Amino acid sequence: MSYARVLCVGLAGVAGHLVEVEADLSTGLPALALTGLPDTALNEARDRVRAAVVNSGRDWPNRRITVNLLPAALPKHGSSFDLAIAAAVLAGAGELPPAPLDRVVLLGELGLDGTVRPVRGVLPMVAAAARAGITRVIVPAGNAREATVVPGVTVRAVDTLHRLVEFARGEAALLDPPAAPGTAEPPGPDLADVAGQEIGRYALEIAAAGGHHLALFGPPGSGKTMLAERLPSILPELDDDAALEVTALQSIAGVLPPDGGLIRRPPFQAPHHSSSLAALVGGGSGLIRPGALSLAHRGVLFLDEVPEMGRGTLQALRQPLESGRVVLSRARGTTEYPARAQLVVAANPCPCASPAGDHACQCTPLVRRRYLGKLSGPLLDRIDMKIHLLPVRAAQLTVAAEPAEPSTAVAARVARARVAAAARWATGGWRVNAEVPGHRLRRPPWRLPSRDTAVLHDALEIGVLSARGFDRCLRLAWTIADLDGRDRPAVGDVCEAYQLRMGEPTNRAVA
Ligand SMILES: [Zn+2]
Repeated sequence: MSYARVLCVGLAGVAGHLVEVEADLSTGLPALALTGLPDTALNEARDRVRAAVVNSGRDWPNRRITVNLLPAALPKHGSSFDLAIAAAVLAGAGELPPAPLDRVVLLGELGLDGTVRPVRGVLPMVAAAARAGITRVIVPAGNAREATVVPGVTVRAVDTLHRLVEFARGEAALLDPPAAPGTAEPPGPDLADVAGQEIGRYALEIAAAGGHHLALFGPPGSGKTMLAERLPSILPELDDDAALEVTALQSIAGVLPPDGGLIRRPPFQAPHHSSSLAALVGGGSGLIRPGALSLAHRGVLFLDEVPEMGRGTLQALRQPLESGRVVLSRARGTTEYPARAQLVVAANPCPCASPAGDHACQCTPLVRRRYLGKLSGPLLDRIDMKIHLLPVRAAQLTVAAEPAEPSTAVAARVARARVAAAARWATGGWRVNAEVPGHRLRRPPWRLPSRDTAVLHDALEIGVLSARGFDRCLRLAWTIADLDGRDRPAVGDVCEAYQLRMGEPTNRAVA
């Protein structure tokens, strides 16, 4: 037999497609041709596969070999096809009986010595195989744990090409994946550690309940980062679909811990303000890596010292935040990753960043205005709440009357508010208030009496509030009412929403 076929999976973004790897061996000058839109890394598979086969103690067939990857129109990236190509060639040469590999997806990169190396993106590949009706996969030992996360698929692992050949010949067994980790994810930082900062904590709770974007201003040491890091701890756990999506993105980025299971906690990403555009939105060659924006999908993207970020960088974030997805264009086509993240930005009030706050600041009003002015415009308009934090006083740290409320207590209130909002918007399919289109809030039956929204109309009239800002205040007011257990916002909620939006002190801001 001089023809063989095995199965593999190619990735386009997070979507995987079943790929047939065909090998045909014919007489002619010994060579290996690879067809079917392979990229550079995949073209190098020719040399890797040949060395791996020879160093596994097998004879390389000295014939003219054509390896074809189907469907040909689908671009194929990376090195995860190595194992399937080697298996197809060996099966075509009669070295390996093909029957045990029938309807089995093979994934893995080959080292020159014949070892099978882990690859990025195994989880979404196995998920795609499962959707295509495949029930058995063979993956690198280093990826076996993540592959078992996909229900309905039998996962076996290999460490060497030699083991795969022995298995097909019935001379050796494949490896079992490691057992599921007994312990859950380690607990993240808890709100109980945050002393004082009532207004910051309150804004964080609203942000979690309604899915609102948040800006925190304050001198260094006022707890901006501490608060932002604790937002995931009061968000609901990810449901099955979201967890699979988040874990798949980490798998493609290659940041999934080898023994980790399905990720249930909403992710938290805090890229440095000097991060490259590729690190933020995604990039690279071959299998394009998702950026921080996509790794924060279904979780929190925290941008600290945001005025230090370039204008171009902030502009690049704007569109994906709006649409919930990142589209990366390359010569060989576009790749799309989901990016529905909740944004928390933080900034010092001025470039001198005096830890003592405004009293010690030497900056002129013009310098201060210019500094925060870098933030202004379209991005800031999309942020629902602007909170000014005061430096934490020593008294608040040492003589706190009672310990701060832990995350679990806040999370319970957030969960109740989210249930109320999801029930109200069920017909539209929106889960949180932040997702509801403005026109729905401005029309019956959800329109609020105009005497209750007078403060917003006045602000709109004199131009201190944009039309987008008007809608954002309405959404905030609904969240405040949800948290309070009322079925409609009252005039007080609207006023409070307006104050949070404009960065004014609210009635609760007693520091
Ligand atoms: Zn200053």
